[in-house]
Amino acid sequence: MPKRPLRIGVLGGTFDPIHEGHLALARAAVEKLRLDRLIFIPAFQHPLKDKEEQTVASPQDRFEMVKLAIKDELKFEVSDFELKRKGISYTVDTLRQLRSQFPKPNEIFFITGGDWGKTLDQWKDIETIFSLAHFVVAKRPGFDIKNLPPRIELLDFVPLDVSSTQIRTCFNQGKDSSDLVPKSVLNYIHQKKLYR
Ligand code: ATP
Repeated sequence: MPKRPLRIGVLGGTFDPIHEGHLALARAAVEKLRLDRLIFIPAFQHPLKDKEEQTVASPQDRFEMVKLAIKDELKFEVSDFELKRKGISYTVDTLRQLRSQFPKPNEIFFITGGDWGKTLDQWKDIETIFSLAHFVVAKRPGFDIKNLPPRIELLDFVPLDVSSTQIRTCFNQGKDSSDLVPKSVLNYIHQKKLYR
């Protein structure tokens, strides 16, 4: 029997740390886009976050936290593509790499939160990105996703109002963030004394 093409979702980010907002987005993407799998790809260095916004935890710790957060989710995977490649983690390079692994007619859905929808003119080789994958923008509290270019597909779901920045601040101030990150991740952060 011929194999049907796969539907692969890609969620890139710094995941510093991964939180329930990422997981809610990933679950909605699997359901609404009918994905066979969703690959989390932690960035080595985000191309558009400036110095102050760059990561706090090490690449290895960010990768381990994603691994812990997704261990019970059958369709979720994590890739160390960008961490191994080092340097600036351009989406176009990652999608090219993924395309060689999943050539057409397999379908790739690159998913991003609404905060990035308005920065598209700053992305490296955006037209190539559009030719390699569907570009999906998801709702995110506080970000207007109206008037996006026609190449963009919208993922409608109920997002959680949480960010990694907010979580790092909570840890830094000794506040409780147990409902914002999975328990296994919370334990890891405590064990490794991250974000203090
Ligand atoms: P930081 O606060 O450190 O900038 P972040 O919470 O935005 O981090 P990232 O790792 O940069 O987390 O996000 C990875 C991807 O997930 C991005 O495309 C981002 O827009 C999206 N995302 C993060 N949090 C949410 C959320 N609460 N709802 C919807 N999308 C989200």
